[in-house]
Amino acid sequence: MLNYVDFRITFSFIYTLIALGLGICAFMAYRSPKSIGKAVALLDIALIPPLFGNLIIIGAHTRTLALTGYYSYFIGMNIMALALVNFTSAYCSVTGKHKTPIKTIIFLLGADIIHLLLNLVFGHIFDVSPIEAQGATYYSLVPKIGMHFHRIVLFSIMGATIAIFLVMTVRMPKIYKEKYLVILVTMIFITLWQAFYIFSQSPINRSMIGLGSFGLLAYYLSMNYRPLKLLDRMLSNIASDMPEALFVFDPNFNCIWSNETGLKLTQLGAKDLEKVSERLEEIFGKIQHSDYAWEDNKVIGSGKNESYYSLTLRSFNDSSQKLAGSFLTIRDNTEEQNKIRAELYRSNHDSLTGLYTKYCFYEQIYKKLCENEKTQYYAIFVDIKDFKLINDIFNMAFGDRALIQLADGIRSFMSPRCIYGRLGGDTFGIFMPKEEFKADEVDKRLSNFIVRDGKVEYHILVHIGVYELSDEDSDVPMMFDRAHLAISTISDEYNTHIAYYDKKLREKVLWDQKISASLAEAIDTMQIRPYLQPIADANGKVIGAEALARWIHPERGFMAPISFIPVFEKNGMIVELDKHMWRCACSILQKWKNDFPDLFISVNISPKDFYFTDVVSEISSLVKEYDISPANLRIEITETIMMIDAEEKMKLLAKFQEEGFIVEMDDFGSGYSSLNLLKDMPVDVLKIDMKFLSSTDNKNRSETILRNILRLTNELGIGSLTEGVETKVQYEKLSEMGCKMFQGYYFAKPMPVDEFEAFAAKGAE
Ligand code: C2E
Ligand code: MG
Ligand code: MG
Repeated sequence: MLNYVDFRITFSFIYTLIALGLGICAFMAYRSPKSIGKAVALLDIALIPPLFGNLIIIGAHTRTLALTGYYSYFIGMNIMALALVNFTSAYCSVTGKHKTPIKTIIFLLGADIIHLLLNLVFGHIFDVSPIEAQGATYYSLVPKIGMHFHRIVLFSIMGATIAIFLVMTVRMPKIYKEKYLVILVTMIFITLWQAFYIFSQSPINRSMIGLGSFGLLAYYLSMNYRPLKLLDRMLSNIASDMPEALFVFDPNFNCIWSNETGLKLTQLGAKDLEKVSERLEEIFGKIQHSDYAWEDNKVIGSGKNESYYSLTLRSFNDSSQKLAGSFLTIRDNTEEQNKIRAELYRSNHDSLTGLYTKYCFYEQIYKKLCENEKTQYYAIFVDIKDFKLINDIFNMAFGDRALIQLADGIRSFMSPRCIYGRLGGDTFGIFMPKEEFKADEVDKRLSNFIVRDGKVEYHILVHIGVYELSDEDSDVPMMFDRAHLAISTISDEYNTHIAYYDKKLREKVLWDQKISASLAEAIDTMQIRPYLQPIADANGKVIGAEALARWIHPERGFMAPISFIPVFEKNGMIVELDKHMWRCACSILQKWKNDFPDLFISVNISPKDFYFTDVVSEISSLVKEYDISPANLRIEITETIMMIDAEEKMKLLAKFQEEGFIVEMDDFGSGYSSLNLLKDMPVDVLKIDMKFLSSTDNKNRSETILRNILRLTNELGIGSLTEGVETKVQYEKLSEMGCKMFQGYYFAKPMPVDEFEAFAAKGAE
């Protein structure tokens, strides 16, 4: 049997060793980057004073030394308890709602420390009594009534900590339970050991070994522990249930394990693993085992039964870097691929016609152009004439049918070398090798296209613009812009359906760009100026003039409006030109205030002006600026302005009248004249174009129409002006029919302002 001396030495040795271990662990934990490191370090450091206290107790030869040991032990235990609480909350990540009542605990433990120190005065907590054993003196503890308080405090805290670990053990997922369970069991064990020590009244507190070991265990579990066994089990469960097929091979590429998915894929049983490699090769072809990593995508089957797989092989080495085996995963991507394909199809194809969308169509052409083959291509623009009318006459559904059927019509004669798509709205694009383009066939198939819906049949007129690519062409949208532009040259829309972008058109485009670029300068330098064409009354007397734009171009010379007005009407620049013309007219009228106060000037207003400017206030302010009478400035509008937002336009015309302007309707009879419009339209004068009457073969009819229009204007109280009067006969006949005003070459052609002034002065004489 060991004697006390031996015990003394043995326990001193063990405690010193544990204290040393705790010190090292605390140091390492403190330096660890883990967040729990500080809590572990604190716990391990806090365990040293009670341990040290016990070391003193064991070795104490005097009463004072023994008391010092006990104080160190008891007070140390309190500090340890605080560190334990801190560690527990860090280990169990106690946050949020379940905050540790740390203040209460500090207060409790602090109070207990003060209470313990009071023992120095009152001696009501403990004392020590010497025991003689084998010639040596030991000091064992003599607890008194006050000891209960210390023990209750300490055991409550230990109990609470145990409770927390118990809850964590129960609540945590299986894989982490172990981490809490170990601490739980250890703590219960230490607590019981402590309790045993108290009851045993042994002078040597063996439970300190448990407490010290707990500090080391806490360090291990916090810093190094990973539930490897459970992790292993979990990983193998995951691998078995994986949606991917997984095969593990030995270094000789014999399959040693496969998950369920793998067996299903290879249609083998768990016992046929040696056949796996062979089966895999049958299905997917060669699988490269030799590389460290190998990946491949395979398509199996065809058509609707097509399946997509991605294969990944990884080798792994043992610790001596020798090949230990490899594993292969096979993922069935079919569903994903199908989704991607469907998505891609949807984004690349027009949902109505199933043709390529414009973006994708252009993309395909770019690709084709990059192939650099020697083929010559045509970019073809297909446009349905008056498509809006189809929607208006029938309905949107019929309009959709027309688009679908025309798309089918296009599709039906395309070779695999053609690319075609819907450019948007009612326009389609075709990219076709030049040698495949047969104008007659295209004309026959497309230009007079019949849309059928049940019994309804409707002929739609289709215009086709063709642009031949040059070798340098790479701007796809530009090609189709040019093909589109070619369509604008179709003037006889019922007989001509195909138009080509040629040199002439190219030059015209360049010309249009050139004159558009120089418009501002032409206005500033008065290259563009008004010519005045006299307007006469029934007696042949000049009563006013129409201002007509002329451009005296530095290169081209004299230019009639036909060569520039349509260009500016198209690009909207007509506003600038018209404002200039209005200003010129006002300036002339200002000049005439003395010499020709009764003469008026009519100015033209393009329908586009109404889009881009507030015509009424623009002209009104000019009249004010030049201080002239609005009655002297007449406003010529055409009935086409009524095609959009007629009600709004009527209001504008009425406003002109209110301000004192005379509103004239120009070119009456040349457009979509509706006599009905006359009923509501606020106009003062109708300008009837002789051209539209003379173009008809049936002279008698023309005359009848003219006569009746003139009678109508008289009865409605609207003034009448016939323009394009070229002969005396015409003039006399029109007078006899009741026309009040005349304009035409019979009187005079449009002329420069000074000439007009002379002409008017002569007339007045
Ligand atoms: P418009 O307003 O109908 O002008 C009458 C056109 O008929 C003028 O052509 C005039 O020269 C022409 N004309 C007059 N009498 C006769 C005739 O006896 N026989 C024939 N064959 N023609 C005659 P012009 O000056 O070439 O103008 C053509 C059109 O250009 C004008 O038709 C007008 O719509 C437009 N235009 C002219 N100047 C302007 C302008 O400053 N602004 C706007 N927006 N359009 C203008
Ligand atoms: Mg006019
Ligand atoms: Mg006219």
